[in-house]
Amino acid sequence: MQLLDGKFLSQQIKQEIAAEVAEIKAAGGKIPHLVAILVGSAGRSETYVASKMKNCEEVGMKSTLFRFDETVSEQELLDKVREVNDNPDMDGLIVQLPLPEHISADKVMETIHPAKDVDGFHPTNIGRMAKGLPAYISATPQGILEMLKRYEIETSGKHCVVVGRSQIVGLPMSILMQRNTYPGNCTVTLTHSKTRNLADICRTADILIAALGRPEFITAGMVKEGAVVIDVGLEKVPDPSKKSGFALKGDVKFDEVAPKAAYITPVPGGVGLMTISSLMQNTLKSARREIYP
Ligand code: NAP
Repeated sequence: MQLLDGKFLSQQIKQEIAAEVAEIKAAGGKIPHLVAILVGSAGRSETYVASKMKNCEEVGMKSTLFRFDETVSEQELLDKVREVNDNPDMDGLIVQLPLPEHISADKVMETIHPAKDVDGFHPTNIGRMAKGLPAYISATPQGILEMLKRYEIETSGKHCVVVGRSQIVGLPMSILMQRNTYPGNCTVTLTHSKTRNLADICRTADILIAALGRPEFITAGMVKEGAVVIDVGLEKVPDPSKKSGFALKGDVKFDEVAPKAAYITPVPGGVGLMTISSLMQNTLKSARREIYP
């Protein structure tokens, strides 16, 4: 079993980005600039955004955070998105999800200009990704592709089973893994909560990508010997033995699945860190006008 080390890879990617940003600066170019919009301060959103801003700093990029109270109107939020769209100094824009119920996340995502949509949530980017055209790919799936690439894992002709069909992870992952490119060329099965015989299907996976948000749901009995296991899940579960009172758990029961797997991602230290470095990669692409020249 080989561990897919997200900590090592994300550091490597961040060093590469930092070197590119330093080159841009040395040549007198404009520093890549990521803008985040955060509504409210509940849940994990605050921590996620803080981490994204800190990572920008670490690689030498500029970052700006616009904060709004929970009570902000949809109109006010859309106006801010349009303001960022029109500001040539601002390259990438992310609006941290979830948003309060009175605001349509779809409307907000569709208002972000596709060329600044570094989260890859705009329908234009999703459509372009599906067609195999240059597009911003959402950070978690992109981080997983990067992992497969950097560990040179063979994907062509393999059966890839994705558990979970969310817009931000499972669905794009399934589209990407079937594309006629590397990593890709898989035969893909996309599963969800209504899937029958899920365990049987998972057992046929050469590559199993678990993104369902159910701690330790994937057990050894659901995994084929020699499979590549990618664990996207990241949930806090109570753990009195920890000082914080909780532990971070993935969707895979790591201790029993790891001995059967050829490759596996740990939680924490796997996909989560790749997600952040992918966002930095997308921000650099937006500053370079790589996707939308
Ligand atoms: P989500 O939007 O809640 O979607 C969960 C998906 O899993 C849904 O499609 C759901 O099916 C499916 N599902 C739920 N229970 C299932 C079951 N018992 N059997 C089969 N499928 C089941 O979740 P998400 O946003 O994709 O996130 C999933 C997990 O990944 C969470 O733990 C989240 O914290 C984590 N995550 C981590 C990162 C990272 O950077 N590491 C990034 C994003 C998400 P239905 O569609 O039928 O409801």
